[in-house]
Amino acid sequence: MQIDLSELTAVNDTRKESDVPIDATVFSFQKEEYPVKDGSVILRLHHSSDRKVELEADIHIALAMACARCATPLTETFDLSVACLLDLNKKTVENAPDPMNVSKEDEDADAYVNCVINNRFLDVDALAFDTLSLNMPFAVNCKEDCKGLCPVCGKNLNEGDCGCPATAGEPTDPRMARIADLFKEV
Ligand SMILES: [Zn+2]
Ligand SMILES: [Zn+2]
Repeated sequence: MQIDLSELTAVNDTRKESDVPIDATVFSFQKEEYPVKDGSVILRLHHSSDRKVELEADIHIALAMACARCATPLTETFDLSVACLLDLNKKTVENAPDPMNVSKEDEDADAYVNCVINNRFLDVDALAFDTLSLNMPFAVNCKEDCKGLCPVCGKNLNEGDCGCPATAGEPTDPRMARIADLFKEV
């Protein structure tokens, strides 16, 4: 959802808190598409003066994902917080700050430059997804000790042993067997 900031920035020292739904139904990340099952952002905005808006957001997103080991579908929930300063005076390339002379605050603001459209609308979906992109785990698992799928027959080993030799801890590749033998000799 997009939030119109013009009312907020029209008056100095104004605050606005809102609970904003995430409209997007799919989160695209590294060529994967994850359906968004639930998403909302608690947004706290403070316009002190001069079209500079302090933003704090508590982001809640649930994504439909799959266990990286056994491919079982699961819902992963993310609760993320972000705080940054949106400077609505410099949201164009011409007004971009000199990179040799940026403060930490400026860097934070620039990181969220894509979330503000036409110096006026805050794109809450973009804010949430940018933050989520920085926090996506390398992989998710259905449980910590997920046994995964048998590489030979593809059975989900959480449901029981399949009886394939590889899953009994014996290497099937003869070269690996030789290496295993070498270790036994030591
Ligand atoms: Zn699993
Ligand atoms: Zn098997």
